[in-house]
Amino acid sequence: MTKKSAILSSVVLLILLINLIGYVLISCRVYIALNQYAYEHTEQISQRINSMLESTITSYYTELDQYKHQCDQFLPLAKQVSLASPYTRSITLANRDFIYCSTITLNAKQKYVVQNVAQGVSLRYIASSPLVKKSDVFLLVVTSEDVYVNFGIDSFIFTNLLNVDMNYFTPLLYIDNYLVSKNGTTLSPSFKVDEHHLVENAYIRLFYQIDRQNYLNFGLINYAYFYFIITVLSFICGVVLYVFLMRRDWTVFAIAKGLKRKQFVPYLQPVFDKDRRMVGAEVLARWLHPKYGLIAPDQFIPNAEHSGQINQIFSQLVDKVVAGLKPFQSRIDSLNEFHLAFNVASPQLTHFHLLRDCKHLIYGLNRCHFQLVLELTERVQIPQDELHIQGIISLKKQGIRIALDDFGTGHSSLSYLKNIKIDYLKMDKSFTDMIGEEEFKDHIVANVLDLAERIGVPVVAEGIENQYQELYLLNHNTQFFQGYYYGRPVSIDEFIRLYLS
Ligand code: C2E
Ligand code: CA
Ligand code: CA
Repeated sequence: MTKKSAILSSVVLLILLINLIGYVLISCRVYIALNQYAYEHTEQISQRINSMLESTITSYYTELDQYKHQCDQFLPLAKQVSLASPYTRSITLANRDFIYCSTITLNAKQKYVVQNVAQGVSLRYIASSPLVKKSDVFLLVVTSEDVYVNFGIDSFIFTNLLNVDMNYFTPLLYIDNYLVSKNGTTLSPSFKVDEHHLVENAYIRLFYQIDRQNYLNFGLINYAYFYFIITVLSFICGVVLYVFLMRRDWTVFAIAKGLKRKQFVPYLQPVFDKDRRMVGAEVLARWLHPKYGLIAPDQFIPNAEHSGQINQIFSQLVDKVVAGLKPFQSRIDSLNEFHLAFNVASPQLTHFHLLRDCKHLIYGLNRCHFQLVLELTERVQIPQDELHIQGIISLKKQGIRIALDDFGTGHSSLSYLKNIKIDYLKMDKSFTDMIGEEEFKDHIVANVLDLAERIGVPVVAEGIENQYQELYLLNHNTQFFQGYYYGRPVSIDEFIRLYLS
């Protein structure tokens, strides 16, 4: 996965996450708000039913109650009350068994079908009215002294009241095993009233139902702009994150991870003298990445120098060189001379790590017969301040030698020679490459070598790839030779196998 696609997938993930969290929060809000809305509206319906029933009860007690034992006196007044009330269809008087008095003409003696009537006032439902054929009826029953006064109320009055404007919820009435809604009445003996959605008054049990479509309608109509804001916001966050991540230097994180897992390893390239004797090696960093394999130093050294991680990489290289060479100390001792050269960047000179790690190397190999060399590149200007000069002086006090790396390419750090004795000059590969190309280029190389000879510093020529270059350098008094012609940089084990066994 490339950096760009990894960043893109994190951004998409973030957008999805923000949307998900946003939608969950809004959905919770919709849930609470709609339940509140439904509760309040159901309560309003309950109050309307309540006031309808109360007005009927009031008119009963004020106008009819005293005549409930005499049908002939009761009936004309009851008819008046029935006609005056918008809700009342009929008023009847009954005892426990029969209806004996009614505002509707009775053809025959009618059985009183309402069972288990409580004392006082109650609302009941009869699916099939004995007085009006093929009609159901709600009865408001006022019971006193074995007289049942029944106010018949048309069921459409209730279904009308249960009809609400917005399709956000369904108010329901549950009475005598019947479920009453705006769509009519159905027998539902096993229906369970949801106690959380219940609104009760003295006469009825009302409740409300909300289904998924209701939530959707309510959410879309009332909270659409929230959804819109969340979506836009998540995209803005995504773009900001994308720009931020794309600008970020991920190598620092990757190097830190590599350091933690000790993935930086030393590769050693042999250095020879003019008699082709192996006289040392340059330690070159490699990053043994589990995914990308062996990574060359130019891919990470500049970043590591910039971030200061070069100090830890140096420590890791030293540790591994000590561990790898320790068992071969006597073999190194037996060599005439053995140089171990490490590359150092100028910021390392002022860091306490460098001296500590160099001491670790020297004592780690029990001061065996080898010469530690630090190669300071000339490609970047080496600061000439006191701190850097003191850094080099304290290294030299430990017997460490200094080589000027990439000599001839850059900032003429030769001026250092005034303050510090440079022990070796490493002529850059770019000069070795010039040998044999054109005559004037040969002169340039000759000039570099001539300068070194005049200041009396031995030269290590790097990047030698053929015999012609070797001969030319031999003829120009080069002391040390390094390049693929003699040997490529190899792992410590390989170096030991090839040169120290
Ligand atoms: P350098 O110090 O000039 O190292 C010499 C480079 O030339 C090495 O590349 C080496 O593998 C390559 N080389 C040697 N002989 C030949 C040859 O005959 N032909 C060709 N084509 N190349 C040859 P490498 O190992 O890729 O290192 C590149 C640079 O990375 C080094 O240049 C050095 O500046 C830096 N570097 C490597 N390791 C470290 C380290 O531990 N610390 C620091 N600060 N820099 C390092
Ligand atoms: Ca070098
Ligand atoms: Ca070089």
